Amino acid sequence: MVMQLDLYTLGVVGLVIAVTIATSFTLLGLVLRGLPALHIWAAAFWTATLGVIVLNTLANWSAPTAMIIGNGLISGANALMLIGLCVHVQVRMPLRYPLALVALYVLGQSYLGIAGAGHPAVDITFAIHSLIWDAWMIWLLLARSPVELRKSCSFTAAVLLIDLCFYLWRLSAITQAGHLATSLTQGPLATLGYIMGALSALLLSTAFTLMLAERLMLDLREQARTDGLTGLLDHTAVLEDGSRMLTQCRRQHRPCSVLMMDLDYFKTINDTWGHATGDAVLIHVVRLIRQSVLPADALFARYGGEEFVIVLPDRSADEATAVAERVRLKVSGSPVPHQPSPIRVTASIGVASDDGENGFNAIVGRADDALYAAKHRGRDCWVCQSTDASQRHSATTAVTSVYGQPGTATG
Ligand code: GH3
Ligand code: MG
Ligand code: MG
Repeated sequence: MVMQLDLYTLGVVGLVIAVTIATSFTLLGLVLRGLPALHIWAAAFWTATLGVIVLNTLANWSAPTAMIIGNGLISGANALMLIGLCVHVQVRMPLRYPLALVALYVLGQSYLGIAGAGHPAVDITFAIHSLIWDAWMIWLLLARSPVELRKSCSFTAAVLLIDLCFYLWRLSAITQAGHLATSLTQGPLATLGYIMGALSALLLSTAFTLMLAERLMLDLREQARTDGLTGLLDHTAVLEDGSRMLTQCRRQHRPCSVLMMDLDYFKTINDTWGHATGDAVLIHVVRLIRQSVLPADALFARYGGEEFVIVLPDRSADEATAVAERVRLKVSGSPVPHQPSPIRVTASIGVASDDGENGFNAIVGRADDALYAAKHRGRDCWVCQSTDASQRHSATTAVTSVYGQPGTATG
């Protein structure tokens, strides 16, 4: 049996809790940068709070108006929470779906308001609508969240599941006993409704905070592995991820190759046009390669200065040389826009593939040797140091493509 509590007091306590949560999310948004979901959730908590205020204050003036506006705001708050979750788990969802649900619900409530429908109808539609939001968000959190965010997403899903169970129970209570028509606004059921509302808001705010903390940790970890200028993986990260990729390829008896690329005469670019232009050239080259010539599963990293590593899982030495040639052509054929004239850049590339014995660092070392050979052959070319099973006996044979003049920095 639910303890009988003064509903007015419960309402005030609930409102204080709602305002506190909304305020703390707003303040968090001022301190924590780069978390767009946080701002959306702060807006969601404020919208829900406003909805509750409208429901409780306008009801004396016009019950249907209070119901339509108040419940409409609560529906809008649910939509904002869902949109925030999509942003958080990085799932694209057209805004029209959640907005359509809000519109449909408001239209339904308006119809009930105009028709003068009583409590059961209004409560049933509210409960069904809440069930839809809860189920939608639970699905998103469990089925679409990335593995790295799964812990906090599962906790949030559990909180929403409690809410969903409450509405299911409430729905069955309303539909099974017509005489409960008024007991949702007064008596034990109403008390339980208020308590559940406050509890669910508190648990949700904890769950959202946990999700933000997990996202923050993930972003910081990613940032620590990322090169600041180009946004590529850095030296340490590519050695880690490359080793993992190599292990996976070996387990599945697939080849794995590495390209080591170094821009030609880059020092001359710095000396001629300055360091800032040198930086712009690096960004330009990375963008070119990223956008057009790499397979989707390739790892692309800045190994140091103007030296880059590309890891190609599932690619034999022959296939890797085809990629190297595409990269070479793209770089040499796309001068960097610059005043008074574009800067032509070329790259030399060393290619090496898995020998099935040594570790990832050894492949990178052989790719580096091949790069050295490419520089020696005049630059703007690639050299493959093949140890593919098919070419094992021709190991360290340089297969070179030499195209025209060695690349020089020209203005
Ligand atoms: P090579 O064809 O033999 O590679 O000649 P190079 O001039 O490119 O020679 P090297 O690789 O030794 O020169 C690399 C230069 O890249 C030296 C360094 O000042 C410059 N560099 C390294 N990191 C950066 C960076 O982040 N920005 C800019 N602008 N320059 C950098
Ligand atoms: Mg260089
Ligand atoms: Mg270099």
